Amino acid sequence: MTFREKTSAPADRSITSGGSRGNGTAKKAVWEYAPSAESTEHIQLRDRYDLFINGKWVKTRKYFPTINPATEEKIAEAAWASKVDVNRAVLAAEKAYNNVWSKTSPKERAKYIFRIARIMQEKAREFAVIETMDGGKPIKESKSVDVPLALAHFFYYAGWADKLKYAFPNQQFSSIGVVGQIIPWNFPLLMAAWKIAPALACGNTVVIKSAETTPLTLYKLAEVFQEAGLPDGVVNILSGAGDTGAAIVNHPKVKKIAFTGSTEVGKLIMRSVAGTSKKLTMELGGKAANIIMEDAPIDQAIEGIINGIYFNQGHVCCAGSRLFVQESIKQIVVKKLKHRLKSLRVGDPLDKNTDVGAINSKMQLKKITELVNSGVDEGCTLYQPECRLPDKGFWFKPSFFTNVAQSNRIAQEEIFGPVLSVLTFRTPKEAIEKANNTQYGLSAGIWTDKGSKIFKMVGAIKAGVVWSNTYNKFNPASPFGGYKESGFGREGGLQGLKEYLNF
Ligand code: NAP
Ligand code: MG
Repeated sequence: MTFREKTSAPADRSITSGGSRGNGTAKKAVWEYAPSAESTEHIQLRDRYDLFINGKWVKTRKYFPTINPATEEKIAEAAWASKVDVNRAVLAAEKAYNNVWSKTSPKERAKYIFRIARIMQEKAREFAVIETMDGGKPIKESKSVDVPLALAHFFYYAGWADKLKYAFPNQQFSSIGVVGQIIPWNFPLLMAAWKIAPALACGNTVVIKSAETTPLTLYKLAEVFQEAGLPDGVVNILSGAGDTGAAIVNHPKVKKIAFTGSTEVGKLIMRSVAGTSKKLTMELGGKAANIIMEDAPIDQAIEGIINGIYFNQGHVCCAGSRLFVQESIKQIVVKKLKHRLKSLRVGDPLDKNTDVGAINSKMQLKKITELVNSGVDEGCTLYQPECRLPDKGFWFKPSFFTNVAQSNRIAQEEIFGPVLSVLTFRTPKEAIEKANNTQYGLSAGIWTDKGSKIFKMVGAIKAGVVWSNTYNKFNPASPFGGYKESGFGREGGLQGLKEYLNF
């Protein structure tokens, strides 16, 4: 890492050292990170992406631009799949299921999935750069989290493809047929991997739709499928908007819907599917409690809080957006949090030093701003570090609120941005009650020195995942999913495999 010496620098891009000692007038040395931009020269992007149906690129009537939220510049155009296109994709998937994929031996299926994983691994750098350009997330995150985890899911489920009878011993099961998958914009490639890999391992064929603001890495994945020689029609990739998703949901030949997105749209989908025999998995919103007990290792907990809420600009369903601090340590935690926030580097997502990138879209920025304003109007105290934001693009300073009541909107609604609400508790019982006081139940975190407290609280908190003394850790072998309005069904692990079979 290179540093340049400067006499003055904006607070957000600088680190300060103690400077020379001995006399009271010593000037503080301010050090600024030199830019360390990831190269974009090695990536290959088309100007326009058609739909990927039956192994071919298929034109449609309407296209829309996908922009880089850090610069507001257009990167490429993507096809807007109509109802007719959705029908074409479903028929291709049905034909591929009947004629090819359901007749392909599990061992052969495994080979294709392994091949996909290996090609993704070869193209990891390209995937990371495009994910960052299309969605705004810091390159260090797409390189170290999104891409490696996505290909790990393909490796993991490739391993299960020819061992299903060991995964579910003494049970009769069969593949489902054509599955429809709809994903959000916060982890495009990773969400696609969570869905496509187990579906293929179980012998199903797929029609998947990317989110409107982030279609590009799914189309790069289509190129990987072509390179891997995956038979035509086994995976069909569409881009488009809500109506494209609705056409997939309502298509009678789609036998299962796997949806990741907001609770609001999830409810709409559940209504449309009610009364049909379609299987459903719903991975919806969250408002996780991150609980810090007074005996917790505080410095580690501070890193856990930062990772919990500012990772991917807080565009994370399991983000630790409600911080519960035991009253006796509130002051020290808030003080340390303020200090740590000052050192977060906000800016160019392609810079390897950036900690907090761009907000995914103008619409999301509007939503975050509106909710933060409601917090201020309701009397909560907002803290934001001094921090210079780029002139172009969509940005929000990493922020937190104190003086928050459980009834405040910022403590109840999913902000899906880099905004934390700090609340307090006195006893573990009170922490559990407050943590569960939400419509959601996706994830939680507990920080304490005592294993007994962890076990007691893990059992009492209604959340699909509870991390202890860490946060946001994922592994393909470990299932993920929600309670209450965070959805149902699991992705990852054997549980995730089971969702793609009929028993
Ligand atoms: P969203 O608005 O619900 O959109 C999700 C997907 O559904 C997008 O592809 C969207 O298309 C599509 N869609 C919109 N309306 C539809 C309809 N009527 N029928 C079918 N599909 C429709 O959610 P988002 O804003 O993209 O994502 C953020 C949400 O996802 C947050 O609530 C977050 O918590 C949740 N999430 C959950 C998990 C989890 O595992 N539980 C993981 C990640 C994110 P367009 O993009 O074209 O609108
Ligand atoms: Mg984009």
